[in-house]
Amino acid sequence: MADNRIQSIVIVGGGTAGWMAAANLRRHFHKLPIDITLIESAEIGTIGVGEATIPTIRRFYQALGLTDLDVLKATQGTCKLGIRFRDWNAPGSSFVHPFGLYGQDVRGVGFHHYWLKMRLAKKAGPLGEYSLGASLAAAGKFTTPSPNPPSSLSIFDWALHFDAGLFAQLMRKTAEADGVRRIEGTIGKVNQRPEDGFITSVELNDGRLVEGELFIDCSGFRGLLIEQTLKTGYEDWSHWLFCDRALAVQSVGTPNPPSCTDVLALSSGWRWRIPLRHRFGNGYVYSSRFIEDDAAKVELVSTIPDKLLFEPRPIRFMPGRRIKAWNKNCVTLGLASGFLEPLESTSIALIETGIEKIKQLFPDRRFDPRLIDEFNDWSKREFERVRDFIILHYKAAQRADTPFWRHCRDAEIPDTLAHKIEMFKSRGHFIRYRWEMFSPPSWLAIYDGFGIMPDDYDPAVDALDAEGLARSLEEMRRSVARTVDDAPTHQDFLERHCGPYLPELADATA
Ligand SMILES: Cc1cc2nc3c(=O)[nH]c(=O)nc-3n(C[C@H](O)[C@H](O)[C@H](O)COP(=O)(O)OP(=O)(O)OC[C@H]3O[C@@H](n4cnc5c(N)ncnc54)[C@H](O)[C@@H]3O)c2cc1C
Repeated sequence: MADNRIQSIVIVGGGTAGWMAAANLRRHFHKLPIDITLIESAEIGTIGVGEATIPTIRRFYQALGLTDLDVLKATQGTCKLGIRFRDWNAPGSSFVHPFGLYGQDVRGVGFHHYWLKMRLAKKAGPLGEYSLGASLAAAGKFTTPSPNPPSSLSIFDWALHFDAGLFAQLMRKTAEADGVRRIEGTIGKVNQRPEDGFITSVELNDGRLVEGELFIDCSGFRGLLIEQTLKTGYEDWSHWLFCDRALAVQSVGTPNPPSCTDVLALSSGWRWRIPLRHRFGNGYVYSSRFIEDDAAKVELVSTIPDKLLFEPRPIRFMPGRRIKAWNKNCVTLGLASGFLEPLESTSIALIETGIEKIKQLFPDRRFDPRLIDEFNDWSKREFERVRDFIILHYKAAQRADTPFWRHCRDAEIPDTLAHKIEMFKSRGHFIRYRWEMFSPPSWLAIYDGFGIMPDDYDPAVDALDAEGLARSLEEMRRSVARTVDDAPTHQDFLERHCGPYLPELADATA
């Protein structure tokens, strides 16, 4: 039997995507004779943003043998319990989308059903008061979840904010220690097999030739292999997602960082503010159809209270996805595979799931088209699910004070999203498809945060004793409040576990 096993993988790009793939695949194939080479160009550099994550990142680095503290310390990281949305409904409005559950189900009836009934009767507080994650974040506190939670009320998860450059360095260190070969240089030419267009090698500008069997394109927006070489095509979603520009800037840090990402609605998009130990990452994601770049810069700067470490840096993007995430012998990860926008910190998570898919559908040298089709189908679905979740934010936001927000409110949305919203509105149903990154509590957080309420609740609620429900709700609310009172501030937690805040680090970074 012919041996068709892949023996060499070439990863093009040493940003977050490239180094995550290198570290993870090297560990996965550790005993197999598969060479993994990564090529990166100092001349081109990396995108330099991508600093807020969702909890799956912790499973990712733990599988590499890294602990939370290892990563927090190595990346000047802070803890993230969720995202705080401010001014998305009206000036001064705010809610947190936490990583965790709300309340407890009662006799098989979902929390949100009976909470809704009691809320309408004015016998329940705001949803966030029944979520430990949301309440900790709102109070600027942090504690790790109990390994054996006494009740589902204590179930929450957390993620990290990290310095993107330091995280890539950590991945690089892990990958190189495991045997990944790194080549520094700029690729000027990609060679293909004449008969079928498969990639055979890449040529660096200094003449070096790097051959491979499977190529992973992590070259960022340019899609050096997947687009510039293979002309795969891109599905443009800018008719649904209107933001296409960002301005990114770092500012000096604070000794007391919040335990969530802050996203503030602005006139033509929104501003992120990501707390790290040594600095903040800030940026304005906006629509060039509604604001000029210079005006966006003025607006961004006016919202940042601390000293900027450099001038805001412009980034352009087209929301959408590569039509085939895998084409011939080239698979894409990271920005080369598509980009929605960073509102829910999904890009790095999509890199993680992309790597998982590569492992699950790992080809041999015959590159079975059925594997490729399956990979592309999974990727398409996953991107579409994330897209719908993000569009929901814009559609449901109650702001209507600028042309941008009115346009978002009035815009068409994908049928898949319209169906989900209708099902929720009719009786609080959540529709969850395969390859869905966000689970019902996340959808609930956003529906509730933007005031989308079901017209009706599960009829089983009426079989439950209303007085008993009121008592349980009050007990849950108090239990959350007590835990929040007892929890350390985020800063105390970081000082205790990662060392003191050092203001001079911000200057060193600058
Ligand atoms: C404004 C903005 C904010 C974001 N915020 C978040 C966030 O909060 N959370 C999140 O999860 N994601 C976020 N993202 C996405 C995140 O930044 C990316 O998913 C992540 O950084 C991965 O990027 P990458 O590795 O694909 O590309 P890049 O960082 O662009 O790396 C590309 C690599 O390819 C190399 N390369 C390119 N061409 C060549 C060549 N010819 N020869 C050799 N090497 C080459 C480059 O040198 C570089 O090493 C954000 C993105 C943007 C645009």
